[in-house]
Parts: sequence; C-alpha cells; structure tokens
Amino acid sequence: MTLRLTSEQIERYGRQIMIPDLGGKTQIRLLQGSVLVIGAGGLGSPAAFYLAAAGIGTLGLVDSDRVELSNLQRQILHSTEDIGRQKVQSAREKLHRLNPEVEIRVYPVRLGDDNASELIASYDFVIDGSDNFATKFLINDIAVSLGKPFSHAGIMRLQGQTMTVIPGKSACYRCLFNDPPAPGEILNCQQAGILGAVAGTIGSIQAAEAIKYFAGMEEELLVGRLLIYDAKTVEFRTVEVSRNPRCRACGKAQEESKATSIV
Ligand code: ZN
Repeated sequence: MTLRLTSEQIERYGRQIMIPDLGGKTQIRLLQGSVLVIGAGGLGSPAAFYLAAAGIGTLGLVDSDRVELSNLQRQILHSTEDIGRQKVQSAREKLHRLNPEVEIRVYPVRLGDDNASELIASYDFVIDGSDNFATKFLINDIAVSLGKPFSHAGIMRLQGQTMTVIPGKSACYRCLFNDPPAPGEILNCQQAGILGAVAGTIGSIQAAEAIKYFAGMEEELLVGRLLIYDAKTVEFRTVEVSRNPRCRACGKAQEESKATSIV
C-alpha cells in the first residue's frame, strides 16, 4: 500500500520528518506500523505517549489494573479523576486526545500463557512495560519464538535498565538472566520504590527504540548491550550481552528444534 502524507500530517510530524535518519519514508512506516505496549504504568505511559505523538498507526495497550492514587506519581497517562477506572480506558482517552489519528486497541487483561502469543503476534514491535519478572520472561520467550522484536526494561528506585531484542540476531533477556529470581529474592517497585522521572527516561528510550526500528536503523538499536541509567550518579553505562548458545529461549537447541518442526 502506498500512502502519501497529508499536509496536516506533514505539519504535525514535521519536526521528526526533517531528521535525515527518519524522513517522510519513516513517517509512512510509522503510520502503517503497530506497537503493543504491555503495561500502562510507569514505563508504558511515556512510551505510549511518545509513540502516539510520533504517529504510530496502531497502538495496543495491555493492562488489567485500575488506576490507584499511588500510581499517579509516575504513571503519567492517568490523572487524579481517573482513580478507580481501568488503566487502559484512561490511557486510551489521553492518547486519543493527543493524536486522534492513532488507532488504539485496549486489552484489559493480564498477559498470560493463554493470550500472550496471539497478542504479541498481531503487532510489529513490543514494548515490555511490565512490573514483574514472570511477565518479562513470558514476553521474552513468546517474542523470541515468534521472531518479534521488542524492548525490555526494568526500573527500581533511582535506576533503570533497558535492552532491545531482535530475535535470531541479538541476545535475549533470558541470555542475560537465565531464570526469574525466586519470589522475594529481588524487590519490586511496590516494595523498593521508584522515582517517576526514572521511569520517564527509560520509557522514552523504549519509544525511541521502536521508532528507530521502523526507521530501519537496525545497526543503531540497543541490541547486544544492556543500558543502565543511574539517576543518583547521573551515569549511563552499557554492558555487552552476548547470545548464550545454551539459552532456553534463543539458544542452539531451540533453533534446531524449530528448524526440524518446519521440515
Ligand atoms: Zn537468549
């Protein structure tokens, strides 16, 4: 399908169209593209806001929670008057107000074994904005098995981390952390705390990675390295992450069994 940008679109997206790495071609790809944002919380809020602002064609939002007062310090898609509403409904309203051109699909469900494959398969790129290890491993394993690119992220206190995964080409989340930690071994945001601005920084990086993916900037993506941001020391550092041949998600054995099943 060939699409021409309207004069209104050229005006709305002009400041990013004029970036040489992006241009009108990327804008058309964005308008035809789809991103699934899992979690409409601290990471999903900035990620979804910037993707909607940039003109992504279809944005899917998965979250089963309702807005609580304690969410508002970081989950900027939601406002005080939204307390008690479904997060995906509150999010849809804000995103539609920002850019009515974006098709927003909402899934007020918890991502699980029963729905993850179908949801993830329907989108071009996935943003992991989840807040627990079980979901992070589930997103990784399903996305890797479907060959779906995604952005991983995690945040706690004054620190955040993120990495982009291109299945078959770069290390996956399970190459980095073999297995989920035992329950209680690592604190989550609810127990440890999180600064909203840190979630904002990391979620914005995830949105930028998705946009770069649609721009075809594969070489420049945050793949094969984990970015760690420390707001306390104001340091960004990256740690190289190699593919683990014995990885249970993307390792050699998995690829071979996939090849056999195709034959
Ligand atoms: Zn792996």
